[in-house]
Amino acid sequence: MTIPFVDMYAQYLTIKNDIDEAMQEVIRNSSFIRSSHVTKFEKEFADLLGIKHCVSCANGTDSLYILMKAFKIQPGDEVITTAHSWISTSETITQAGGKVIFCDTEEDTYTIDPKQIEAKITSKTVGIIPVHLYGQSVDMDPILEIAKKHKLWVIEDCAQAHLAEYKGRKVGTMGDAASFSFYPGKNLGAMGDAGCLVTNNTSIAEWCELFARHGGKGEHHIEGINSRLDGLQAAILSVKLPHLKKWTLARKKIAEKYDGLLSDIDNVVTPVVASNRSHVYHLYVIRAKERDKLKQYLNEAGVSTMLNYPKALPFYPAYKYLNHRSEDFPIAYRNQHEILSIPIYPEMIDEQIQYVANKIHSFYH
Ligand SMILES: *Cc1c(COP(=O)(O)O)cnc(C)c1O
Repeated sequence: MTIPFVDMYAQYLTIKNDIDEAMQEVIRNSSFIRSSHVTKFEKEFADLLGIKHCVSCANGTDSLYILMKAFKIQPGDEVITTAHSWISTSETITQAGGKVIFCDTEEDTYTIDPKQIEAKITSKTVGIIPVHLYGQSVDMDPILEIAKKHKLWVIEDCAQAHLAEYKGRKVGTMGDAASFSFYPGKNLGAMGDAGCLVTNNTSIAEWCELFARHGGKGEHHIEGINSRLDGLQAAILSVKLPHLKKWTLARKKIAEKYDGLLSDIDNVVTPVVASNRSHVYHLYVIRAKERDKLKQYLNEAGVSTMLNYPKALPFYPAYKYLNHRSEDFPIAYRNQHEILSIPIYPEMIDEQIQYVANKIHSFYH
């Protein structure tokens, strides 16, 4: 048996007719750019979250960058974010003109530790970017409190956490604004690059719209960038959106099965979901003894796995200039050596889940 890490073709087959038709319609009308498909999807996604504005853009990295420009980040301004994420979160801080300040993660959830944020705040701090990593909501209330107290903005990075919740509130609706990615492998994925930002703040939404579309069509009020969701991707996302709740539930069920099947292995720590927080399992990440050997063993048994991510951000060459040492982020540093993402996608069947679990068992016996 071979188990892919994700099976996007399997998902396509479940909605093939609708996808094919939607694509044909876009082609028939040549509505490739700025079409009704785009505005339709923006409205649908905003409605699903229960938020006022959704501004689509080319990917989930641009949306972070555009938002930071909207919050008027100035050279030397400091932005606090997690030491454990995909590099989009931190590289956009630098690109927007700010300085990256990393913060370690909680002991067992892989998300930023709110208790360590306040010590990082200086007179230069302007914002915080919590990342709902792997699909689990960050502990938001303490972060929102700190932000209020120090007058900082909060941009939620929701790229991995569509429909995850914190105390019944959807991620993306708690901060000043939020960023989503529709990269193909994300919980809601296009068939190419795509992303959006959401906010209840009308003036921020309007500025982002202007900035992402060359500073305005016809009249260029400012210099902007070109970051668009194209018509084909929008039409595809509109077909997929009504399935998202069902797919999310399927991910949760698979995670529950893994939890049960792996619970008796002492050398494996299964994902911990904190109280008041939900997890939508973009990734199912275990911590494993002899992680590299296990990864190789699974690979030889036909099970694809990933490291998300092989290093915590401060330890990549890109951040060597910050001169961080492993002791600065002990939890993220420990995790980079132990984490392993095993296959999870809504179309996974019981036999596949069982097979992956069996192979992990046999490795340790
Ligand atoms: C995927 C991802 C992004 C960026 O999304 P792209 O659409 O690939 O640009 C940003 N942050 C996190 C945490 C991600 O996982």
